Amino acid sequence: MNILESDSDRLLAAVRTILERKGLVSTPEVHEQVAITDAANPGQGARMVAKAWVDPFYREILLEDGTRAAEALGIRMRGMPPLGVLENTAELHHLVVCTLCSCYPRAVLGYPPLWYKSAGYRARAIRDPRELLASEWKTVIPDAVKLRVVDSTADYRWMVLPLRPAGTDGWGEDRLAAIVRAGDMIGVTVPEV
Ligand code: FE
Repeated sequence: MNILESDSDRLLAAVRTILERKGLVSTPEVHEQVAITDAANPGQGARMVAKAWVDPFYREILLEDGTRAAEALGIRMRGMPPLGVLENTAELHHLVVCTLCSCYPRAVLGYPPLWYKSAGYRARAIRDPRELLASEWKTVIPDAVKLRVVDSTADYRWMVLPLRPAGTDGWGEDRLAAIVRAGDMIGVTVPEV
């Protein structure tokens, strides 16, 4: 046994071996999924958001079927869980969490930040999401705005379509995409100009 190997490395190797022996997943499939996540980054989700802000037809597709909307921009979604997109409005704000582990829209945003997987984030997002957003991100959601916390799971991944900030009239897609951060697309922050 390699002493540099952690328990989680050995657990991962064991799970993969069992899944492969049972014929549930193949090594090439595992490599393909890892390659998709390695290639993904928040810039992909930002392009989707920016396009939805300027193109009502695309916005409709995005809110109806996030997977299709991602693929329309050339983002690889094969074998990935379905992607749902939740629209923030002046009355409703969404916050994404995986209460169980670390489910995150990896295909469109890349790897989740470390804090996303922490027990603290997962618990506080449920217990007092307003306090969590205000104290950790200085994101203040007014009391008049409803805050909905959504649970991302292994079967369904959620992403947020944030509100387009004021002062961006006439901006093109590239300029808009540049202001959209990963946190904006899971609801811990909101886009700023
Ligand atoms: Fe999870």
